[in-house]
Amino acid sequence: MTDSHAHLCFPEGKANLTQIIDEFEQGGGEYILNVGHSPETNLETLNIHNSLKNNKVKVLSALGIHPEYVKETISIDIDRYKQMRKTVDAYRELVEKNANEIAAIGECGLDYYHIKNDPSISEEELEEIKELQKNLFKEHVEIALKHQKPLTIHVRDLPGENDCIEDALKIVSQIGEGKVRGSFHSYTQAPSYITEIIGLGFYIGVNGIVTYPKAENVREIVKLVPTNRILLETDTPLLPPQRIRSNKKYWRNYGAPYDIKEIAETVAKVKEGSVEEIIKTTTENFKRLFLVD
Ligand SMILES: [Zn+2]
Repeated sequence: MTDSHAHLCFPEGKANLTQIIDEFEQGGGEYILNVGHSPETNLETLNIHNSLKNNKVKVLSALGIHPEYVKETISIDIDRYKQMRKTVDAYRELVEKNANEIAAIGECGLDYYHIKNDPSISEEELEEIKELQKNLFKEHVEIALKHQKPLTIHVRDLPGENDCIEDALKIVSQIGEGKVRGSFHSYTQAPSYITEIIGLGFYIGVNGIVTYPKAENVREIVKLVPTNRILLETDTPLLPPQRIRSNKKYWRNYGAPYDIKEIAETVAKVKEGSVEEIIKTTTENFKRLFLVD
């Protein structure tokens, strides 16, 4: 059992790290990809990696800067491009220094959902933030290409809008030169892009959303993706699956890697297969993508 996208650096993870890892291990968990999303959490991700080196459950690291980070430069009354340049230069340096320690690049990508939803952002500003997000994402794809690391990509747009996924695919194929692999984590965008994503050699990350009664669109996506291209993930501590969400007596009310079990059960139902088969295949997928011998 493997969790291909978790944030152990969120407060929930930091406060209960031992309990979370033990629960996963007892459930048969083998690997977690712990994903950084900002300059601060990237450092914490490396610290967790080092502190758990001798653990039975292997915690791998991904370092990246989430597209939402760009918004944080809005309130800063200086040149945003300069500000982002500084952040990216420091990020590049961190990756160079720790290239042997990290398994993937990300979380990175594009998020137009939040900026399109924010009435305080003007049309002009929206375009500028999109441009900055694209520049930031391009840097990640370049770094992934240079170090031959897989990407863990976030893409989110307003329902029914596709410019985010189209921009992301353009960047991956152009900058990645067809040589970069990875996963589109928590994929909830239009199913019509699945063929192109698979064609680029990428995987689709499926998390707790698949267990939600209303998430018919995600179950449709799962039906379309061949099992050998599915990665299970939790996006811990976000998106706890249905049973955890509705069980008020459980020791935690947030997502944790152990939830892969419930996610696998739902995926097995959708695929009309066995849970064991889903866990076995997605574990092989994880190892093929993130482990280099
Ligand atoms: Zn994430």
